[in-house]
Amino acid sequence: MPKSKPADSVRDAAQAAVAAGPQPDLARARRVVLDLLGIPGKSGEERDIAERICSWLKEAGCPRSAFSFDDAHTKTPLKGNVGNLIVQLPGTLPGPRRLLMAHMDTVPVCVGTKPVVSGRFVKSGNPATGLGADDRAGCAVVLSTALEILEKKLPHPPLTFFFAIQEEVGLYGARFAKAAALGRPKLAFNFDGGAVEKITVGATGGYRLDIAIEGIPSHAGVAPEKGVSAIAIASLAIASLVEDGWHGLVEKGGKRGTSNVGVIQAGAATNVVAESAALRAEARGHDAAFRERIVKAIEKAFAAAAKKVKSVDGKTGKVTFTGRLDYEAFRLADDEPCVAAAVAAVQAIGKTPRMEISNGGLDANWMAANGIPTVTLGCGQMEIHTTKEQLDLEAFEAACTVALRLATRE
Ligand SMILES: [Zn+2]
Repeated sequence: MPKSKPADSVRDAAQAAVAAGPQPDLARARRVVLDLLGIPGKSGEERDIAERICSWLKEAGCPRSAFSFDDAHTKTPLKGNVGNLIVQLPGTLPGPRRLLMAHMDTVPVCVGTKPVVSGRFVKSGNPATGLGADDRAGCAVVLSTALEILEKKLPHPPLTFFFAIQEEVGLYGARFAKAAALGRPKLAFNFDGGAVEKITVGATGGYRLDIAIEGIPSHAGVAPEKGVSAIAIASLAIASLVEDGWHGLVEKGGKRGTSNVGVIQAGAATNVVAESAALRAEARGHDAAFRERIVKAIEKAFAAAAKKVKSVDGKTGKVTFTGRLDYEAFRLADDEPCVAAAVAAVQAIGKTPRMEISNGGLDANWMAANGIPTVTLGCGQMEIHTTKEQLDLEAFEAACTVALRLATRE
């Protein structure tokens, strides 16, 4: 066996320590996640969970002046019971501010969950509910990281811990958070669903459209020719969207997007020519201009269909559109500092980073729109938004280790 000189072994040990980086207390991280999972808190009802996060932080010596709540919940359609929780720590190391975030709300199917550990997984002991690891596991990763830094007094750059409200109902916490209140971080890391090595560097943009069709009611047996059926207008419009390739997966001229008419409410009785129809549709795409083309195609199809359905005296129905951008698409460059840091941290724990572009919106969409480039990492949630939801504790612990490296700039 080759024998290394003492000087070498000291150097090797030092290198190994650097490679290992700071190690979080994983037993405590498990206690934190089980604690946070057990607290009900669907969108708009995050106050209890926010208070629990605060009490963990206070116990770890976090000064009261570090906490703040914003008023995001007063601007959301769903008036919530608490705003975003923001915790800011001044740096003990120089360097740009870093932000770690997760959303506090869970989808309604998770209310009533009883987290139960079974081997390396956490499940809901209540078969009627999901677990809520989306995104309490993310909250636990961010909170555990803060606890480690506070208790062990680990050196760190200026830090912001951001616990967002109302992600599941429209990304509202991130949407209404102010960059100044978050300390204008230069690198930001969002912990949400999936495996820890899944690094989401971009996401599609989404547009929502309400379509109101006004027809002309008439008795369907006595004088159907005097009516204009709102249902007929909707049907013709949707048929033309399908025939012309503007519904579902839309691929034209090398561009790609999606659209869906997801809701139709119309009609009251078979003996009445339908007076009105209310439809809800969406369009998504990574390319904003192409997504706008899809929206225009939908509007054109409904306007054209309205002209085709006429009463005997030449009257037609009317269509009005109300649209709104839910979130704009974003794409982070490979050399964006938060991307490079996330890749390095995932590699440092021996995993292979997998870069992804999401086809759904993330809080990171609004962070990017607010001028804060944000990369999203998973923390072990599986089958989210279902009663089969589970948390893989090994992946969760890996996320805790990655998060601590990111927060301490290891
Ligand atoms: Zn989530």
